[in-house]
Amino acid sequence: MADSPADSTQKVVTIADAITVGELAETLNLSVTTLIGELFKNGIIATINQKIDFETATIIVEELGLEDVKLEKREATAGPARESHQLSDKAVERPPIVAVMGHVDHGKTSLLDAILETKTVDDEAGGITQHISAYQVEKNGRKITLLDTPGHEAFAALRQHGATLTDVVIIVVAADDGVKPQTVEAIRFAREANAKIVVAINKMDKETANPQLVKTQLATEHNLNPEEWGGDVIMVEVSAKTGQNLDKLLESVLLIADLEELKADEDIPAKGLVIEAHMETGRGSVVGLLVEHGKLHPGQFLVAGTSYAKVRTLLDFKGKAIKEAGPSTPVIVTGFKDLPQFGDEFNLVKTEKEARQATVSNRLERERQSAETNVTGADILKLMNQAREAADFNVIVKADVQGSLTSVMDSLRLIDTKGAVNLRIVGSGVGNISENDIHLAATEGTVIYGFSVDLPPAVKRQAARDKVEVRIYNVIYELLDNARESMEALIAPEVVETEVGKLTIKGIFRTLKDEVICGGEVTSGKAQPNVKARVLRGSEQIAEVEVTKVQRAQSEVKEVFEGEMCGLSLKTTKKLQLEEGDKLEFFTRELVKRTLK
Ligand code: GDP
Repeated sequence: MADSPADSTQKVVTIADAITVGELAETLNLSVTTLIGELFKNGIIATINQKIDFETATIIVEELGLEDVKLEKREATAGPARESHQLSDKAVERPPIVAVMGHVDHGKTSLLDAILETKTVDDEAGGITQHISAYQVEKNGRKITLLDTPGHEAFAALRQHGATLTDVVIIVVAADDGVKPQTVEAIRFAREANAKIVVAINKMDKETANPQLVKTQLATEHNLNPEEWGGDVIMVEVSAKTGQNLDKLLESVLLIADLEELKADEDIPAKGLVIEAHMETGRGSVVGLLVEHGKLHPGQFLVAGTSYAKVRTLLDFKGKAIKEAGPSTPVIVTGFKDLPQFGDEFNLVKTEKEARQATVSNRLERERQSAETNVTGADILKLMNQAREAADFNVIVKADVQGSLTSVMDSLRLIDTKGAVNLRIVGSGVGNISENDIHLAATEGTVIYGFSVDLPPAVKRQAARDKVEVRIYNVIYELLDNARESMEALIAPEVVETEVGKLTIKGIFRTLKDEVICGGEVTSGKAQPNVKARVLRGSEQIAEVEVTKVQRAQSEVKEVFEGEMCGLSLKTTKKLQLEEGDKLEFFTRELVKRTLK
């Protein structure tokens, strides 16, 4: 995984949150066909004008092996961007907000627990009675807010919302294990979120602890230079088990808070972020909020994403009812009508009516945005996995003698699948097909190829019972042809677009919700019904439509040629306001089976 900032050999390419396939190809200096081909390979049938999101683009760049390119999201358009808050002169100091991240099993939970045990603000033993994803601890009379949930996934979700929630990220690295993939990911997240990094080198009580190695890895491979080596990153050697240096760790966080002069406005309507949301029987929605500015009180109206609340109860992180919550305070609120989403921003409004209106406009905005991005990273990952599964062709090969076995296997391996299918020989051997082979093949989709061997009746019955396919051949080419055909069946088809003709719009007669009746002159090729058309205004494509009818002199016709005028019925997916002078490009789109020949 590329680290941030980019290696010097990498070209940083900044793209918008949603980008069309065509734009991405241009940005990456690739042919559209290559890009579309890569999407196909991943099971996505995309056209040049299809929008894909940033994550998808990143995946594709990785899949294409473009190691010299690093994609970065253009911040201005990153998600429903939050307006950054301009601090007033009256801003006051606020507690730092800290996330603990790191590789699994390096001790994040243990460290948080150990800190909480000794440092919980109100020192009642076992004070925390309910689960909440943020806590506050006290050190030297000052508060520190610790986030629990921002596991890596949650952190990524927050980032997508353009939220900068955390001031400091404590990166936990086990002293006996060193830097691992999730450590690297945590460093990347922290940097992308513009958070300050403190490294907690944990498990120092272990004999095998090697903090020097951890520091060397961080310094040489990740540009995190320890203070003691003249760098600017505080690294504290701790043990969640013995409690070693936990005080020092918290002091380091406060030191950073001082340097960063973390402030918030208290005298403005409260606002902040949703950090958890779930339903509880008897209580309804239970929503965790982190106040960023202002003060929150019970009875106020809040809007968060597509939901709103009249705050029924306001609880601190221990579940104790409170009257007021100021900046950097994690609270639990009940009273939300529906569950808001993790990472939603919340704002105060004055009345229920205002709250309701705000949720409606937020919903519309969300719908608009989701309509713009029609392939998401999650989709592509799902499809990629499906494609990967489909593209594995597992076989077991049996042959009469070693010589034939070797040549069958070599020939199978030589079938050029153009990278689209993974031929895996999961078993092989000399001799008749045995019950053992059937057993092995009974895992999903494994085919047994036999060359000049027998399938004894008992084994045949077992194969039928276990639904294992056994294919026996005496001619090697026939066996190979069959394998090739089987693999072809596994490859995703190719989408081929064929240009039919062009037309310039001369008049618009009727515009309905999903249909436009218009007329124009065919400028090249022909116009015909049952084809698709790109609608171009200038050089920009504004829609893709379907031609349902073509008319000339009041009667429906099958085709109209260059130089002639005609009327058209176009089916649209949403209301399309055509203008005179817009151009249509007619084309057909078909799925064509790809072959391995
Ligand atoms: P997480 O996955 O990062 O949250 O890691 P955990 O907190 O669940 O810890 C993983 C394992 O490491 C557990 O078995 C802990 O008991 C152990 N562990 C955590 N911190 C320490 C430590 O400081 N010293 C020792 N010896 N073990 C630790």
